[in-house]
Amino acid sequence: MEQEQRTQTNSQSATLSPFSLDGKLALITGGGSGIGFDIARCMVQAGGTVVITGRREQPLQEAVATLGDRAHYMVNDVTDRPLLDDLVERIEAIYGPIDTLVNNAGINMKKPALEVTDEDFDRIVHTNLNSVFSLTRACAKRMMARQSGSIIMISSMAAYYGIDRVAAYAASKSGVEGMVKVLASEFSGNGVRVNAIAPGFIETAMSKTAMGGDPDRFARAMRRTPMGKFGQPEDIGWAAVFLASEAAKYITGASLPVDGGNSIGF
Ligand code: NDP
Repeated sequence: MEQEQRTQTNSQSATLSPFSLDGKLALITGGGSGIGFDIARCMVQAGGTVVITGRREQPLQEAVATLGDRAHYMVNDVTDRPLLDDLVERIEAIYGPIDTLVNNAGINMKKPALEVTDEDFDRIVHTNLNSVFSLTRACAKRMMARQSGSIIMISSMAAYYGIDRVAAYAASKSGVEGMVKVLASEFSGNGVRVNAIAPGFIETAMSKTAMGGDPDRFARAMRRTPMGKFGQPEDIGWAAVFLASEAAKYITGASLPVDGGNSIGF
């Protein structure tokens, strides 16, 4: 009898795992490479369907070929803000309702603050903050009407503590952290959760550029990371699967560090 019950529970949990993304569609910006690609890969592995975007078509084509049938792409520059409503409308018309938005696309720039021009500053904030708001609004309108959705922002340790030479980047990611709290308060009553993942130092093209030829920066980053190593893009991918899934159904307004302890390291 007990054995029978256990078998029943096991087979239920196999089909109804709260971590499964079966039947869920995610839009992932910047999904052709780096962290965005691994978010897409982990979501597909968890049973979901993904639409990835980026400015360059070739990496998107290659990514979709690797990810298989449940991955699709659209070429899109998130900074073309007037086109974002149309992007969301097209995706939903072709693939169905977007359950999860992952605002992953982002750019960085390392320069002493006194050398940062207004144009530099605007460019970073435009991509990492202004566009994130516009795309989030476009998706949230539809999610709110359906009373269901999960919005995930990719923040940074630069929003947690002072990292030198990334004034614009830190300002943009701090803005994202603030936006998560406000949007979570406005949207969560309508079934739309809003959260951030704050990656530590993760091995991608972006971190290679930031650390390249700067052994002192690398050493400082590692010194305050208790796990003593860089993270892998899939570490962010699995956290995104969790936040998108039913397992996280009571989590909103949170910022989850995925950082090997970097944010609490001495
Ligand atoms: P990469 O530079 O490796 O990848 C960035 C991706 O974003 C690319 O696919 C790029 O594609 C896309 N992208 C950039 N600009 C645009 C745009 N205007 N419109 C659409 N897509 C765009 O960066 P990471 O994977 O390292 O970073 C991903 C996110 O994680 C970023 O938000 C970053 O700030 C954040 N992050 C990364 C950390 C790290 O250590 N790597 C640490 C903390 C945060 P394309 O060029 O074709 O448009």
